[in-house]
Amino acid sequence: METQKGQESRRREWSLRDFEIGKPLGKGKFGRVYVAREAKSKYIVALKVIFKEQIEKYKIQHQLRREMEIQTSLRHPNILRLYGWFHDDERIFLILEYAHGGELYGLLRKTNYLSEEQAATYILSLTQALAYCHEKNVIHRDIKPENLLLDHEGRLKIADFGWSVQSRSKRQTMCGTLDYLAPEMVENRPHDYAVDNWTLGILCYEFLYGIPPFEAESQTDTFKRIIKVDLNFPSAPQTSAEAKHLITRLLVKDSSKRLSLQRIMEHPWIVKNADPSGICK
Ligand code: AMP
Repeated sequence: METQKGQESRRREWSLRDFEIGKPLGKGKFGRVYVAREAKSKYIVALKVIFKEQIEKYKIQHQLRREMEIQTSLRHPNILRLYGWFHDDERIFLILEYAHGGELYGLLRKTNYLSEEQAATYILSLTQALAYCHEKNVIHRDIKPENLLLDHEGRLKIADFGWSVQSRSKRQTMCGTLDYLAPEMVENRPHDYAVDNWTLGILCYEFLYGIPPFEAESQTDTFKRIIKVDLNFPSAPQTSAEAKHLITRLLVKDSSKRLSLQRIMEHPWIVKNADPSGICK
C-alpha cells in the first residue's frame, strides 16, 4: 500500500535539528502541536509532539504505530498528510501537513451554521475522502468538526486520521458526547464502513443547523435519541427540502439501507450546491 515517497520519508532520518519551531497551534491529550519550518527547504509543516510516557500509560504503542503507517500511506487532497516521524528519548514527533485555516469547528462556532453551498462542499470533500479510504479498507475515522481542519484555501482536511483512540479519549475528557456515533456503535453491535455514512448525515445536519441532531442534556438521553433515530428539523435556519432528504437518507437505523457514498456524490443537493474544487471561500 505504501508508495515509494512514503517509504523515503520514513527512511530519511529526521531529527529536531532539521526544524525551526514556531508558534504553538494547539494542545491535544498527548502533547502539543507547533508550526515549524524544515530548515533546508523552508517548507512549513505542523509538528506534533507526543510524550512517550503518555503513550505507555495508555498502552497504545502498537495502535499508534499501525495508525502512523496507515496515515503515511494515504494520499488524498482531503486527508491531512503525515510526511514522517522521528523520536528522541521522551517524545515522538509527527511531521504533518500544516492546515493554515485551523479547525472547521472554530468556523462553525463563529458563524453558528454554514450556508448550503459551504455545507455541501464539505460533505462532498468528506465523501470523496471516505470513498478513497473505504477502497483501502480503512473505516471508522472519527470524523467530527473538531477533527476537521482547513487549509489556506479553505479546503477541508480530515486530521484525525487513525487517531480514534486519541480523539475518543479527548472527547471523553471534554464532555463524553455520543453525538457522532451510529446506533450500531452505541448499542455495541458489530459495525462496518456504513458508520461513516451515518456520521456524514450527522455532520450535514450540524453544518446546516449548528448543533448535532441528537443532542440532549445527558448521555443517556442522547443514546435514546440515537437508537430511536429521533430526528427533527428546526424551523430556523431555513434549509432546502433536498438537504433534509439527504440527511434523512443517511440517518437510517438499518446500516445496509443508508445511502452509499457514490449515491451521496450524485445526490441532487450535492450536485446543485457543492463546489467540486472543494474550495470554500
Ligand atoms: P490534536 O492534538 O491533534 O488534537 O491538535 C491540537 C490542536 O492543534 C488542534 O485542535 C488544531 O487546532 C491544532 N492542529 C493540529 N494539527 C494541526 C495541523 N496539521 N495544522 C494546523 N493546526 C493543527
